[in-house]
Amino acid sequence: MKKANSQQTKVHNRLLILKTIYENATISRAGIARVTGLTRATVSDATADLIRDGLVAEVGIGSSAGGKPPILLSLVNDARYLIGIDLAESEFRGAVIDLRGRIIHRLNLGVDGRDGDTALGLVYELVDQLIPLAEGPVLGIGIGTPGLINARQRIVRNAVNLDWHNLPLGDLLDERYRIPVHIANDSQAAALAEFTFGNSKDNSNLIVINIGRGTGSGIVLNRQLYYGDSFGAGEFGHVTIVENGEICRCGHRGCLETVTSSQAIVRGARAIAGNDRNSLLNRFVSSPDDIDIDVVSLAFEAGDEAVLSLIAGVGRYLGFAAANLVGILNVNRIVLAGRVARFGPALVEPIKREILRRSLPGLADEMAVEISTLGPDIVILGAAALLLDRELGLP
Ligand SMILES: [Zn+2]
Repeated sequence: MKKANSQQTKVHNRLLILKTIYENATISRAGIARVTGLTRATVSDATADLIRDGLVAEVGIGSSAGGKPPILLSLVNDARYLIGIDLAESEFRGAVIDLRGRIIHRLNLGVDGRDGDTALGLVYELVDQLIPLAEGPVLGIGIGTPGLINARQRIVRNAVNLDWHNLPLGDLLDERYRIPVHIANDSQAAALAEFTFGNSKDNSNLIVINIGRGTGSGIVLNRQLYYGDSFGAGEFGHVTIVENGEICRCGHRGCLETVTSSQAIVRGARAIAGNDRNSLLNRFVSSPDDIDIDVVSLAFEAGDEAVLSLIAGVGRYLGFAAANLVGILNVNRIVLAGRVARFGPALVEPIKREILRRSLPGLADEMAVEISTLGPDIVILGAAALLLDRELGLP
């Protein structure tokens, strides 16, 4: 029993020391002892271990505070590679990523209507091609996927677009590749990316609203991704926001997703173009059916009034839903991500306004609503951050 405890302490100290090195560009052993409160001997032993494993290296000599100048340690950014995968859009996106979230290689494969087993085959194809691209040991595979996930059992409980129901994705990948595999919902992965690699590193609490083919959110509370009791925390895309509204792919009517997702925006734009032949939208396509989210962006940038008002409406609906989240959680930072975040201030302003109008006066005075700087890679990076967190206890 005593032995198990000392082993646990050793593992804990090693994680704490690695984390301290990760958080600093360079740091001396004495510096680590000061920050962590561990003894010099413990720090020495653990850093020797980390150097042997290749995760840490001695990189130079620091300035002396009187005595012998200290040796500086640093993380070896490419000591391990992370495979990050995003299954949320119309192409499966994957990348080989270093320990600092730098994308070294990337690969996208078009889904082209594949679902069920053929979609699973495409995941294998993506991983098969990515692993050989890593120029060193691979720490594992992280996956951000749409739908309801059991992150502990690594099962996709339900992903409607991919026609996956109770798919044991984690076990399947485990058997095939024999390396650690972790899975999260795509919006939860996005929140983890923003917290780990984005501009929200210093925020203990954070909500990322992720709007692409679906609408969802991920919630970081007290510096931890919050999963909820059945791993569905943040799934506010299927909260009813329009009574008797349009039917949603989940089977209910008037979900937030039916009025805010990229598909909802495209539907709205097609209706605008169909009703008004002079709409700017029609300049970019020969038929309203050809309008996609990129065409909507072009008309938006050209200042089409009807499109501007369509996007403002999306922002308003997101603001209604965000106000509820803010009212319940009192989180002061919201970050928008996903393909729809490209509309920037046209979404941020109505969201802020609705939060202020619909929550307790004073509660949201310090509210910041921003667009993520991680762009279209956010879910891939989140999948990698999931691996870092689970396998190395970072950040
Ligand atoms: Zn729904």
